[in-house]
Amino acid sequence: MIIILKSNVSDEQIAAVESRLKKMGMEAHISRGIQRTVIGAIGDEHKLDKEALEALPGVEDVVRVMKPYKIVSRESQAGDTIIDISSHPLGGNKIQIIAGPCSVETQEQMDQSAAAVAAAGCSMMRGGAFKPRTSPYTFQGVGVEGLVMFQKAARAHNLPIVTELMDVRMLQTFLDHKVDVIQIGTRNMQNFDLLKEVGKTQVPVILKRGMSATISEWLMAAEYIAAGGNHNIIFCERGIRTFETKYRNVLDVTAIPVIKQETHLPVIVDPSHAGGKAWMVPALSRAAIAAGADGLLIESHPRPAEAWCDADQALSHEQLTQLMGELRGIAKVIGRDL
Ligand code: PEP
Ligand code: MN
Repeated sequence: MIIILKSNVSDEQIAAVESRLKKMGMEAHISRGIQRTVIGAIGDEHKLDKEALEALPGVEDVVRVMKPYKIVSRESQAGDTIIDISSHPLGGNKIQIIAGPCSVETQEQMDQSAAAVAAAGCSMMRGGAFKPRTSPYTFQGVGVEGLVMFQKAARAHNLPIVTELMDVRMLQTFLDHKVDVIQIGTRNMQNFDLLKEVGKTQVPVILKRGMSATISEWLMAAEYIAAGGNHNIIFCERGIRTFETKYRNVLDVTAIPVIKQETHLPVIVDPSHAGGKAWMVPALSRAAIAAGADGLLIESHPRPAEAWCDADQALSHEQLTQLMGELRGIAKVIGRDL
């Protein structure tokens, strides 16, 4: 059972609900987010007096959630959550396109990327300063200096920045550098300690699907973040591993409507890591938007062939601009803005 509290609930009212639950023999798990505070009642639900709880001041609703994921579940909230990313809404009618290089390389590369991403009409920028590479002998990212370069380039065009956090010890550095969106990569989807720590912040989190994760595992991973009080979670489908070897991963388009049904949180798609080839990105992007994705995370580079990481899948700035035009057409047909 979860107890949803009114947005203006006071600390005293929360404490009163907690003590009432204890009297009913239940434990209370409080998750205090920006838009809503949710209390999970843990224990034997037969002991719980639903009506008595509903009558308490500050309580909006008491809902029986059958799914193992509670706060992120659609059962706990019928309407879609719209996440405010530095004044850009994600999860509403507007589709948000995030583009930029796989990794931060130089100031010049980031400046050129930011100018092109903004000119193409994208609303946010991506770029990794810390890279999860398969080999320890390949480029690992430029590190903290990359966050500085990224902010300098992106701020000049009012683009919020999206960048991957791999190590919990870097979280404070990310907060100090005012990272707008923390990306949790596919390899860390079930790094529960990392999820718990980002759950203690209010920074929006893009949670990429583990490359072999089921939808349920992905939703439970999100619940770890939500349980800590951070409800600003964006799911990102980036392709899963199958028997197919012709392309990097298989974009699971089915996951888009399924995630939309299971949760009230937004879902975006990364077509670049799905296909792994630049020429596949437009087709996968169009499919994702048509299937109901709330946004895309696309890799682009001023000179794709020279990219230090994932050169094969980066769009040129001309290709990105052309793709934006195509996506606007699809968005219009399905009644959304882009
Ligand atoms: C990335 O977006 O740079 C990345 C490494 O993606 P993924 O975690 O999906 O492989
Ligand atoms: Mn990449």
